[in-house]
Amino acid sequence: MFECPICYQHRRKIVTLQCDHRICFFCWDKWAKREIHFYQKEWPTCPCCRLEQKPWYLSEKIQRIIVFVAFSILYLHFKNSNFTRYD
Ligand SMILES: [Zn+2]
Ligand SMILES: [Zn+2]
Repeated sequence: MFECPICYQHRRKIVTLQCDHRICFFCWDKWAKREIHFYQKEWPTCPCCRLEQKPWYLSEKIQRIIVFVAFSILYLHFKNSNFTRYD
């Protein structure tokens, strides 16, 4: 069974964070609530490495992919429209 690095308890309900750190649900719930309500943070951080746990659509990895896809579509669009203009 999984041993939580925060409370050293063996837990069934675990949470995998965006940085791949895993802690038990109870510690995460307590930690995240304290981060948001007490420290007034916009997003809770990982208790192991302090990485901000943003929703998936705001994570940098996803944003980079979205920008890449958007530019690819724009590029293809302009390439094709130039092609047809001179045809
Ligand atoms: Zn725990
Ligand atoms: Zn982490």
